[in-house]
Amino acid sequence: HASSSKLLVLLSLSAGSFVAYSDSQAETSTPNLDLAQKDPKKKRIVVLGTGWAGTSFLKDLDISSCDVQVVSPRNYFAFTPLLPSVTCGTVEARSIVEPVRNIVKKRNGEIRFWEAECLKIDAANNRVMCRSNIENLVGNREFSLEYDYLVVAVGAQVNTFNTPGVKENCYFLKEVEDAQKIRAGVIDCFEKAVLPGLSEEERRTNLHFVIVGGGPTGVEFAAELHDFFQEDLVKLYPMVKDLVKITMVQSGDHILNMFDERISSFAERKFQRDGIEVLTGCRVLDVSEKAITMKNKAKGETSSVPHGLVVWSTGVGPRPLVRDFMEQIGQRKQRILATDEWLRVKGCENVYALGDCATIDQRKIMEDISAIFKAADKDNSGTLTVKEFQDVIEDIVIRYPQVDLYLKSKHLMDVTDLLRDPEGRERDEVDIEGFKLALSHVDSQMKSLPATAQVAAQQGAYLSHCFNRMEQCAENPEGPRRFRSTGRHAFRPFQYKHFGQFAPLGGEQAAAELPGDWVSMGHSTQWLWYSVYASKQVSWRTRVLVVSDWTRRFIFGRDSSRI
Ligand code: FAD
Repeated sequence: HASSSKLLVLLSLSAGSFVAYSDSQAETSTPNLDLAQKDPKKKRIVVLGTGWAGTSFLKDLDISSCDVQVVSPRNYFAFTPLLPSVTCGTVEARSIVEPVRNIVKKRNGEIRFWEAECLKIDAANNRVMCRSNIENLVGNREFSLEYDYLVVAVGAQVNTFNTPGVKENCYFLKEVEDAQKIRAGVIDCFEKAVLPGLSEEERRTNLHFVIVGGGPTGVEFAAELHDFFQEDLVKLYPMVKDLVKITMVQSGDHILNMFDERISSFAERKFQRDGIEVLTGCRVLDVSEKAITMKNKAKGETSSVPHGLVVWSTGVGPRPLVRDFMEQIGQRKQRILATDEWLRVKGCENVYALGDCATIDQRKIMEDISAIFKAADKDNSGTLTVKEFQDVIEDIVIRYPQVDLYLKSKHLMDVTDLLRDPEGRERDEVDIEGFKLALSHVDSQMKSLPATAQVAAQQGAYLSHCFNRMEQCAENPEGPRRFRSTGRHAFRPFQYKHFGQFAPLGGEQAAAELPGDWVSMGHSTQWLWYSVYASKQVSWRTRVLVVSDWTRRFIFGRDSSRI
């Protein structure tokens, strides 16, 4: 028993997997089924959400000095990049989820998990109100938790842009249940279309699949659906094989427009060859049970097309919980919850927000830089000596590494000009406003981060690292430079590293945009996709399940039962 536990841990570590657990860990502490804090000296951390951001935060958090409680309405982590594969049965839903309790089992402390939804964040009283969603619960389903630090990682919800009929008549592709519903819905369409007594037109309508949104999720679903039909359903439903149609509706001029244009045109050409109709520049006005109405933006024409199934995949917006919180803290006018570069919610000292539910407000940088200059300019003259100026720059660069990149790049000239007079002699004093003006380019170059698993996971890891070092920093205020500052400035701001992105296009082909402006497309990229997604699985259990699902699909095809 002991050796099998060790083997599990070893295997997990060797794969860089993000859960490493053994049976022996369960024996170490008695589970605390109470909300009460066991050790009042420990800081209380409440984490909302068990998605990419939440689990990545928990994975590396040193819980020996904190009391952690996690709240989420789902007791599992879902590997969302494989959700489109679940819609057609290429992989099974259970293969891409990992129970949260496997992830939170820790050796050096206890993380308490409550399967419930947070209904309200009461930041003024450091409290969250929660309610269990479990049906037929005996006892009180509501409770509240108090915190010293709150980590909001609740993700986002589907954005319908208030388009009439979307909520009632469309399928979404956001959660595991959504993917399962689509799988059943697709099979239903085929079974309906082959019933006796239908006209050809009715059969065609049942087999018209419309996908709204030409982003990575919509494109991947269209590709999966096309493969499912070509590789499996065509043999099972040969009588309707010529009646199937897939249409993609995109409001922009191209599909995959956040990718390199070589990828976007490769995908458009591939879809054209596959017979997937792509309608660009079209906005959906209404979706009824039977038809979808859209407007061609260039021509101004409105048309209505009958459909069998519509999948809505046009992006995400804030959840009601986050909207309510934004109202409380004066962020009503913001599109999305804003944080500073340390992921701290603007206006709240002890609340952090990460992943899809928040965005870093880059505009804050210039305000902060102005404040640093103001503090350095003690006589209010608007100038600093070169020595003072260099100290300030050093300070700013530690806090904002992106400013360093900027200074090293093409704008360095602007800054050098400030330090020397037109004859090239070093100035005695430097004009602060001139420097701020040169720096304002940094502002305009900042883009908000994409809502992806990569960003969410990196933010979770970054925040746990900051939490782990909090005590060290408090104990070493006069220590090395990295410990010297106080509060948030004791840590480097969050910096995102982009490792590239994939777009599977069906027919064993994929496209990838990799760091260094490297683009790769075709069959070999699909194999790269298989290896990356197998290696990124959160545990050996899901890795084995996913790989065996792919193998099963290669050998036996996909299962078309409607369960
Ligand atoms: P989520 O992962 O959505 O997690 C949110 C968590 O909060 C969940 O556990 C949820 O149950 C919980 N929660 C919700 N409401 C509450 C509440 N009121 N109280 C408490 N908990 C709550 N990104 C990539 O980088 N690569 C890809 O290939 C990719 N493919 C994708 C494919 C699909 C189909 C989808 C939908 C997304 C894909 N993404 C991909 C995006 C990626 O999934 C998200 O960016 C990522 O999930 C964001 O992580 P998160 O932790 O912020 O939110």
